[in-house]
Amino acid sequence: MGKPLVVVFSGAGMSTDSGIPDYRGPQGLWRREPDAEKLVTYEHYMADADVRRRSWLMRAEIGALGARPNAAHRAVAELERDGTPVRVITQNVDGLQQLAGMPARKVFELHGSARSVVCTRCHVRSDMADALARVAAGEPDPACTACGGILKAATVMFGEHLDPEVLAQAVAVAKGCDVFIAVGTTLQVQPAASLAGMAAEHGARLIIVNAEETPYDPLADEVIREPIGTALPKLLSRLAAGQD
Ligand code: ZN
Repeated sequence: MGKPLVVVFSGAGMSTDSGIPDYRGPQGLWRREPDAEKLVTYEHYMADADVRRRSWLMRAEIGALGARPNAAHRAVAELERDGTPVRVITQNVDGLQQLAGMPARKVFELHGSARSVVCTRCHVRSDMADALARVAAGEPDPACTACGGILKAATVMFGEHLDPEVLAQAVAVAKGCDVFIAVGTTLQVQPAASLAGMAAEHGARLIIVNAEETPYDPLADEVIREPIGTALPKLLSRLAAGQD
């Protein structure tokens, strides 16, 4: 028998040890602004230059955190490097899984990436770092250098749809995997959360690593409540060794 195809489905909890705050949590960056949701709502973003100015400042603040991959990201990349087929489906936009060494083509970013910007008119993509350098140099709302259109982070804002191609790829790997590990997600945001159920229905072993209960716990073969930074490396080395 070949090695099992392992899918790691990650949410915000995967990156907490990297110092990325849970934006929606009580201390979250978005809570400090009374109308914070406007900054990440497509309609408001497109309509109001002041919303865009504040969004760029927020992006600069997040970028300045200088987040690095943590032990959980590294353990996933290592499993793949050691020859186990691994795919990552993530709700995170931080790109840390790829920074840890996971090939980008094996990472499906359901909510897009905060490491790139995209033009809302001509759809050209470029580096977030370049856009933030322009903000730091005094452009409060940098425009597309190709067409002059409005730039935004290449993340899925409220009011935008998930990329149907990325979602279809995620569905395919969820249905085709042998082990589906949901990490650091409460599995409450749809359609992403339903991938866990799909995997289980198609015969995958479902493992949930999360501090709090999730609606999919009753379906799971195993639920782990330990901190992700220690629990995930332990779990993955157990899988790699074929001990269960
Ligand atoms: Zn453009």
